[in-house]
Amino acid sequence: MARDFGPAAGTHQTGPTIRGAPLATSPAALPVADANPLADAILETLVHRIGKDQRAARPHDWLAATILTVRNDIIEKWMTSTREAHAKGAKRVYYLSLEFLIGRLLRDALANLGQTHDIAGALKSLGVDLAVIEEIEPDAALGNGGLGRLAACFMESLASLDLPAYGYGIRYVNGMFRQRLDDGFQVELPENWLQHGNPWEFERRESAYFVGFGGEVIGTDTGHVHWKVGEAVEAMAVDTPMVGWRGKRVNTLRLWTARALDPIRLDRFNEGDFTGALSGQLRAETLTRVLYPNDSTAAGQELRLRQEYFFSSASIQDIVRRHVQYFGDIRTLPDKAAIQLNDTHPAVSVAELMRLLIDFHEFGFDEAWDITKRTFGYTNHTLLPEALESWPLPLFERLLPRHMQLVYAINAKLLREARAAGSDETAIKAISLIDEGGERRVRMANLAFAGSHSVNGVAALHTDLMKQTVFADLHKLYPDRINNKTNGITPRRWLQQCNPGLTSLIREAIGDAFCDDTEKLDALAAHADDAAFQQKFAAVKRDNKVALAKHLKDLIGLRVDPDAMFDVQIKRIHEYKRQLLNIVETVALYDQIRSHPERDWVPRVKLFAGKAASSYHNAKLIIKLAGDVARRVNADPAVGDLLKVAFVPNYNVSLAEKIIPAADLSEQISTAGMEASGTGNMKFAMNGALTIGTLDGANVEIRDHVGAENIVIFGMTADEVAAKRAGGYNPREAIEASPELGQALAAIASGVFSPDDPDRYKGLMGGLYDGDWFMLAADFDSYAAAQRTVDRRWSNRSDWNSATIRNVARVGWFSSDRTIREYAKDIWGVL
Ligand SMILES: *Cc1c(COP(=O)(O)O)cnc(C)c1O
Repeated sequence: MARDFGPAAGTHQTGPTIRGAPLATSPAALPVADANPLADAILETLVHRIGKDQRAARPHDWLAATILTVRNDIIEKWMTSTREAHAKGAKRVYYLSLEFLIGRLLRDALANLGQTHDIAGALKSLGVDLAVIEEIEPDAALGNGGLGRLAACFMESLASLDLPAYGYGIRYVNGMFRQRLDDGFQVELPENWLQHGNPWEFERRESAYFVGFGGEVIGTDTGHVHWKVGEAVEAMAVDTPMVGWRGKRVNTLRLWTARALDPIRLDRFNEGDFTGALSGQLRAETLTRVLYPNDSTAAGQELRLRQEYFFSSASIQDIVRRHVQYFGDIRTLPDKAAIQLNDTHPAVSVAELMRLLIDFHEFGFDEAWDITKRTFGYTNHTLLPEALESWPLPLFERLLPRHMQLVYAINAKLLREARAAGSDETAIKAISLIDEGGERRVRMANLAFAGSHSVNGVAALHTDLMKQTVFADLHKLYPDRINNKTNGITPRRWLQQCNPGLTSLIREAIGDAFCDDTEKLDALAAHADDAAFQQKFAAVKRDNKVALAKHLKDLIGLRVDPDAMFDVQIKRIHEYKRQLLNIVETVALYDQIRSHPERDWVPRVKLFAGKAASSYHNAKLIIKLAGDVARRVNADPAVGDLLKVAFVPNYNVSLAEKIIPAADLSEQISTAGMEASGTGNMKFAMNGALTIGTLDGANVEIRDHVGAENIVIFGMTADEVAAKRAGGYNPREAIEASPELGQALAAIASGVFSPDDPDRYKGLMGGLYDGDWFMLAADFDSYAAAQRTVDRRWSNRSDWNSATIRNVARVGWFSSDRTIREYAKDIWGVL
């Protein structure tokens, strides 16, 4: 049952708050819902489930009533889907992920069920605008960035392809932080996405498991071991339905919430220790309160490991319980369950399944290991050393003593195999599950690799680099294990729903086969050089830009010209993604415009958005710099409308859905070799933006698909970056060789953009001279030249339109349906 939907007290208040103002203001204005059964159903829900009448209902009440009404239909399909899977004895896919960045669900569910039109009509007859209530649905921000959004796209594609699947994760009470800018500085605020309750979710009190921590492992006289846990919490399942395209199938996203086994200690309470009486509950709730705001940066805290084990243990117990219930024999687990580990965050699941098999199902080690390996697959998302998870051995041992024993046992087997295959001592060191260099640590990536039959990268280049770098020795030992699955995005959310204008235009031109098979978008290429079609295509883009311009005006008070080029970089703020390269080039451009006002400059609006990990100093400073540059540039009458800069606060899925359809230029400019795939790059191309980018991640494959003439590539390749690093890169030389770069860096360092604190960027700029790990200086001239190429192409609008139409036509391959089909065939064996 969804909670917090009991009758509200004081339901007849009519306070004039913005969020809560009743939609109908006077009784006379109340529309009558006649002969619309859907409207009747919504009204009935409003009264009997929410406890409000039409007059008192506020937007959130209408939203909840609408969701609960739509939900009824979803529940029917959900049960049918589950029954069918049982009846067929189908193999199930389990996607374990610490993050699911699903965003809003109402529009997605309505569109996939084909009910948008009917519900909008029913609401209209009640005087309610569907678009307005869609906008107040909170964003389920249970993820940091690309990795979490990928999990959400995958859940949608799994249901769309009619594959029985469960997503497993954590129901964070506060997901990703809300970002506010105070005087340009990022401030992190808790995101209260559950404050109005969550009508999508179902508590499953019957699906609850004990999860233990600490304590000790004792041998028993039967030869069995017993883990006497030091403390335990209960994991309770909370389910959200995931609706596939055309309502074909509804799968389950099962998120765990932690509860104390003994919520209130009455002994303490009776002694007057009220805080102590509730401390167990508080301690349990802490487990599922926040998502660590890290993205490609180290987390390292004990609470994080507790979260990882908590959700892994509950999920594996649930999977094993379901399998035994339906199939009886745990030996057939690999035939009936495929468990995919989204990065190493759930890697402890490997040891947890081993524990259940050995300690509870009484398997010998070798048979347990065979079952485990055949069940798991592991997806790697990063090669950045600082983001590769490893846990101090003493911490791991204290928190999970039984798992520590199993890790040692697995390691012994692994290293025996390696030695038998002729690995030398250097290779043995690299393969070991224990990092022995310095403080001993448990390497989660090696555990995930060893415990899986498939290890995949997320773009072709990334997969190659995995074989050459972090997993080189493991790859030599198990050469068939690493495979590639290039990421994708769901075209339902990232084309059809976020860009209805473009969707209808495409439908008009090529029919709607692309709605069921995204690769059918290729028929659009035939219209790329058709002047009339180009006009319509450009008109759709302009409408989207007008809508975004209005949103920016409301949100940050900035007026922008919808006829300027919208040049967009939105993603997590990280030095490897090189927002700084973009900002420095913007400063150089600003300088050029001021020096040569007579030239034929292309008017640009530079948009930035993204969150920085709270502990990541340089990333936060980059946000502040974008704001400082914006303040100066936007107020300079010498540039006027030729250049506008904005940092839009609180980047999330809903903001992405507004910005991407309005983008002309997509900035994908990471240091080559450092972005595993990227998925933002795919969203932009699918919405008719031109990409300026390096040959990194999936950009390489995007170029292959759209054609080198329809993308602007610059900078060093991954090989060149590696060679330059190895050869002793000297950034100072690179800066001295580029007067434009030198001047821009000097201006920033001297406080031109921060007169209130002239030294603010001294350190940041100094870091470029002293090391420049991300090779901003080495790529600067090539990037600046590529931007002028972009200008020239923009000035030939017909060329621009044909290139961007070709992008839309040729990126259908980047649908997550294609990605999931590949996982299903090659890794999971379910297609
Ligand atoms: C797609 C998406 C991302 C990933 O963007 P990249 O440019 O690939 O890093 C991050 N956050 C949100 C909200 C997204 O929608």
